[in-house]
Amino acid sequence: MTTDSPFRIESSWRRLRRSATAVLLSSSLLAPGLPQAQPAGIPSMGAASSTELSPALETLLGKAIMEQGRRDPTYINDPDVRQYLAAMGAKLSGQASGLGQPVQVFGVRDPQINAFALPGGYVGVNSGLVVQSESESELASVVAHEIAHVAQRHIARGMTQGSQSNTIMMASIAAALLAAMAGSGDLAMGVAAFGQAAAIDQQLGFSRQAEQEADRLGLEMMRKAGFDPRGMARMFGRLSSVSRLNESMSGGGYHSTHPLSVQRMSDIENRVRELPQQSREDGGDYLFVRAKLRVIQAKDARSQREVRETLQHEASTRSGAAQAAAWYGLAYAELVRGELDAADKALAQASVVKSPHMAQMRIQLALRRGADAVQMARDAWRDWPQSQGVALLLAEALQKAGKDGEGVAFLEERVGQWPEEPQFHERLAQGYERLGEAVKARSTMATYYEMVGALPTAVQQLRQARNLTDDFYLQSELDTRIRELRERQDMERELLKRFKT
Ligand SMILES: [Zn+2]
Repeated sequence: MTTDSPFRIESSWRRLRRSATAVLLSSSLLAPGLPQAQPAGIPSMGAASSTELSPALETLLGKAIMEQGRRDPTYINDPDVRQYLAAMGAKLSGQASGLGQPVQVFGVRDPQINAFALPGGYVGVNSGLVVQSESESELASVVAHEIAHVAQRHIARGMTQGSQSNTIMMASIAAALLAAMAGSGDLAMGVAAFGQAAAIDQQLGFSRQAEQEADRLGLEMMRKAGFDPRGMARMFGRLSSVSRLNESMSGGGYHSTHPLSVQRMSDIENRVRELPQQSREDGGDYLFVRAKLRVIQAKDARSQREVRETLQHEASTRSGAAQAAAWYGLAYAELVRGELDAADKALAQASVVKSPHMAQMRIQLALRRGADAVQMARDAWRDWPQSQGVALLLAEALQKAGKDGEGVAFLEERVGQWPEEPQFHERLAQGYERLGEAVKARSTMATYYEMVGALPTAVQQLRQARNLTDDFYLQSELDTRIRELRERQDMERELLKRFKT
């Protein structure tokens, strides 16, 4: 999938920051003379549109962007990272009042210390932010700040303030999404669209007041969710020293999207000082995910070697969970470069700690060696029934052992448990294929393509499925899906065209 795609393009997020202003000059997005006739099903811009994007429209736009984003090579598709960030997002946003939409936090492979909010409640977290944080509360402080922007509808308001640069930005996003929709699941197209969208909060350049509001609400969320509010003050300190170091560099870091001011920093320091001490031990998940992200973030041989040195150092100077996480990171780094014996060795050093991450590493090592990992994976699944990573590995182990029937039955249940996760649908489709159930394989693959925004490819799969069956009921079921997908494509196209013109 995306993380090991051949399209290893230089971070599209950054590319976009350079190109966002270059595309498609257009008249105001919310020109008062917008035609009133609308195709059925498209949310009306309504009267509120003069001040902000309507929630329904924002949701649609966010969904369209995210579908493409899941195919972006910088989107981090690792199940551990995905689940960890989603859980942190849920924990924090559960404490935000006035959130009109669910928040979904996801990871992006980019060494810049930054996070950003997209329309529709999606929050991207750069790997650099996680890697450079020194505690989970520090990380949570930036995620909470972004969620606060969402809760206060800063994105929706900012996008419709009608400034020329916002209009151009929206038009270029719409153009990229339209191009992506027209393509047949072409990855590079998806990249362009997602990249465009990532610049939204950079382009908006939130006001000082908006920044301060987001800090204050973010701090409240952190405190209520059980994080240490001092993490925010510490993170600010770290960010301001980073921004001083990088002053000469072009934008992309946190300071360029959420300007840090002395006032902003002292406001938080004063607030934090008044709060009772709330010390906090970092959970294992944070440490393991941070170690893994160090490895995922390192792209070339030199940075990979540096990461191994860093982890080596941590493994020999830290203790407890931090030490175990460093050994785990080293094992993962060795696994990635195919040094299985070295991975075993690193893992053996950390064997005292019981975690789903360690269990997955052992299963992966066994699978890479071609060993039967079914029992190991079954045991892990019994111990960690909430881990998507363990579930995917059990499915893989079952497939490799030729237990396709059991694999499919297991995946059918997981698709019920995590319907939003495209990877389970993709693997289930492979399972059907292996069992010779071609119709089910195509129609499940169609679901996968639908989830990642490749609607024309989804339609193709459904057509193939339809040609493979004589069953009248199944045929009409497939026809209905094809029609619905087409209607959805038309609707999204109409919506996007409006932004473009
Ligand atoms: Zn901000």
